[in-house]
Amino acid sequence: MTTFNEFKLSSDILKALNGLGYHEATEVQAQVIPTILNKEDLMVQSKTGSGKTASYGIPVCEQIDWEENKPQALILTPTRELAVQVQEELMHIGRFKRLKVVAVYGKSPFKDQVRELKQKTHIVVGTPGRVLDHIERGTLNLQKIKCVVLDEADEMLKMGFIETVEMIIKMTPSTRQMMLFSATMPNRIKELAQNYLTQPIEIKIESEH
Ligand code: ADP
Ligand code: MG
Repeated sequence: MTTFNEFKLSSDILKALNGLGYHEATEVQAQVIPTILNKEDLMVQSKTGSGKTASYGIPVCEQIDWEENKPQALILTPTRELAVQVQEELMHIGRFKRLKVVAVYGKSPFKDQVRELKQKTHIVVGTPGRVLDHIERGTLNLQKIKCVVLDEADEMLKMGFIETVEMIIKMTPSTRQMMLFSATMPNRIKELAQNYLTQPIEIKIESEH
């Protein structure tokens, strides 16, 4: 059993986890949290429901500098529903750090998203197409991005977003830390990892079934 107190996390984050009712880390969290805090790139394969969102959400929130106005973390998700879900979980984790997490996705007015992005934003969660649109329109600035997360990478591949994902990655600072999460690792995803991750730690959690 691993409790969250065993990681180097600030009291603001630990207090938020307590509020969420997260007391013990799941298996994937026990491995991923220290690896991200150690600034390693990583690729993680583990099944749905294993707690992957918090596994990156906790160390990403921990590493955000509140003072910086430009976004510091970019999380790409295959769907609008997942973007909103991740935004909500990150807002809970970052509550006491007062982190601003903005979600951007398609089939929704640009105007509101642009207004949100214009104010101080710590973390942006979004679907690839809309994220690229914001970058091209100059409404999303990537200069200060230090963490990039690909969540459900296999789903982004299935939905035909991989080229867009690659275009976005190429525009982020080369000093970024990259993390890739996927339930399965098709060859195209392994290839993407090979091209954009730096000496990644590979974590694979076998399902008990
Ligand atoms: P995955 O992305 O691996 O499918 P999620 O991140 O969506 O999994 O988490 C699945 C569920 O488990 C969510 O309802 C989440 O709130 C809950 N959860 C995550 N971590 C913990 C934890 N350490 N303790 C209790 N519940 C957790
Ligand atoms: Mg997930």
